[in-house]
Amino acid sequence: MRVTFLGTGSAMPTGERYQAGIVVEDETSDRRLLVDCGSGVLQRLPQSGVGYENVSTVLVTHHHLDHVADLLPLLKARWLAGEEHLEVVGPSGTKALLDDLLDVHDYLQDRVDLRVREVGAHEFEVSGFDVEGFETRHSMPCLAYRFGDQFTFSGDSEAFEGLANFADGCEVLAHDCSFPDEVDVDNHPSVYDGDVGFADDLRTIEL
Ligand SMILES: [Zn+2]
Repeated sequence: MRVTFLGTGSAMPTGERYQAGIVVEDETSDRRLLVDCGSGVLQRLPQSGVGYENVSTVLVTHHHLDHVADLLPLLKARWLAGEEHLEVVGPSGTKALLDDLLDVHDYLQDRVDLRVREVGAHEFEVSGFDVEGFETRHSMPCLAYRFGDQFTFSGDSEAFEGLANFADGCEVLAHDCSFPDEVDVDNHPSVYDGDVGFADDLRTIEL
């Protein structure tokens, strides 16, 4: 499995990191999945070599703008490139989110075959990957996703034991840390809370 961090920033731009987006790939079977699609992720797709033409499925953790802002720009880019499909999978409310976005930008209605599926804290299959969802602690419903024993992505969440248990035994946990220590905020750990490594945009790890 290969994991490429497209965006590792938060809702407050640094000038270096775009917002949340990760590509999970299994090269042996040519399976590919985009997890979250914040602002800037559409630009990172061609920069990473993955390309927006090759991403037909997006799994979203939750509906905060810094995780979904590039969903419709991705849909439009795929339409313009002649791609015919896009599947969006996410927690409860994902269908309403897409319906509302397409109400506002109604010229994008029916441009591609858009399939929307809602998932929860259970096991499911998406783009050929077996994934398990887990409810995190955030200011809106949010799911962490575990890909077997290899990779877990927390989405946004405060750090708590249940999440650590969910990721236990996994080779890599990519965990949200959105704010510097000086900012006192609920629902997110700060950057320097732990002895961890930091991912940068366009970093790739092989698992
Ligand atoms: Zn959030």
